[in-house]
Amino acid sequence: MSSDYVTYPVGLRLAGRRVVVVGGGHVAQRRIPALLAVGAEVVLVSPEVTAAVEGLQHELTWHRRRYAEGDLDGAWYALALTDDAAVNARVMSEAESRQLFCSRADDATLATAFTPAVGRHEEITVAVLGTTMSARDPHRSAHVRDLVLSALQDGTIGDEYLTTTPGVVLVGGGPGDPDLITVAGRRALMQADVVVADRLAPRELLGDLAPGVELIDVTKLPRGRSTSQDEINRVIVERALAGRRVVRFKGGDSFVFGRGYEEVIACREAGVPVTVIPGLTSPVSVPEVAGIPVTHRGVTHEFTVISGHIPPGHPDSLVDWDAVGRLRGTVVLMMAVENAPAIAEAILAAGRDPATPVAVVCEGTMPGERTVLTTLGDLARDVADVRPPAIVVIGEVVAVAHPQRYA
Ligand code: SAH
Repeated sequence: MSSDYVTYPVGLRLAGRRVVVVGGGHVAQRRIPALLAVGAEVVLVSPEVTAAVEGLQHELTWHRRRYAEGDLDGAWYALALTDDAAVNARVMSEAESRQLFCSRADDATLATAFTPAVGRHEEITVAVLGTTMSARDPHRSAHVRDLVLSALQDGTIGDEYLTTTPGVVLVGGGPGDPDLITVAGRRALMQADVVVADRLAPRELLGDLAPGVELIDVTKLPRGRSTSQDEINRVIVERALAGRRVVRFKGGDSFVFGRGYEEVIACREAGVPVTVIPGLTSPVSVPEVAGIPVTHRGVTHEFTVISGHIPPGHPDSLVDWDAVGRLRGTVVLMMAVENAPAIAEAILAAGRDPATPVAVVCEGTMPGERTVLTTLGDLARDVADVRPPAIVVIGEVVAVAHPQRYA
């Protein structure tokens, strides 16, 4: 190993300090946001810039011209990022004469500073530098950074130093595929002492929990065994008050027909710290994964999400089904398998066309996923052999996704 490229790593505190960037191309596009993120006073010198760099112009000073000797005046750090080796060489030599560290895009071997592959996780910054100058180094460094970051994120390393406080975290797990939880949601799950899980929460992720984690199943099977909401509230509060880190793990998003806010209120009333991590909600993500967009330009200017768990005409219903029947855009129904025939009837009675395309997507993003294509007029018949969970999408977007079926 040549020791020429072995660096002495430091972290530069650039807040409020001038950094001069020469060149506004694709390398600058990747470097400038990170400089702005730490509060550097960025001065950009470049006759032309990419559209993305132009979009940053209000956050920096842009001299729209070629580099000239003296541009590094007042700089604490410099980056020579043009695609012209001669210009970069002139920037380097000015930097050298000012004893200013400078990185260089076209040939890093000639630079006095190397840019590491960087990632952050909570209070840790990971920066990885190669110690040779082979062409593979940047990819390798980025790969090592990603491995370290994902290990930090899932708690494989660094967990013993965590300073997380007891309390409740409501985690929206997404529609079912274990890959569709957020990074923050997965991290919270892996750091939990107690996990209180619903039936629709992505089950496969529970297999990754450490052996000592207490798993409380509050599955609410439709018309079957169920745990009351009061009991769920009581359990999460009790475990948190005992000093445990509790994750309340649900399908989709906690605040979309997930009763999440009732749990927030229960925690607050008990003085338990509570936070919420959003999840991909099924009325959008399930049709999406099945290839149906809930909006499409020129087709719909709205999508309306409605719970169908109570049929039209029921005294407890809070939905104005006549108004829904007059809508022309996308209507997405959740928890509607049982009441779909009554809902179709109400919407048709209010005037929506029986030929309106309808898709019923069952077990979206999961191994048993299937889509039934029908129309509003035929929905009652075609939904007969569908079992929950399912999302019903009503509207022309279904025909956009399946033109041959609705030709
Ligand atoms: N909080 C969840 C919804 C809970 S209500 C969310 O944000 O997605 C339960 C209903 O969600 C089901 O009856 C069904 O209509 C819908 N649903 C959730 N996951 C689904 C999936 N993977 N496939 C189809 N529908 C799903």
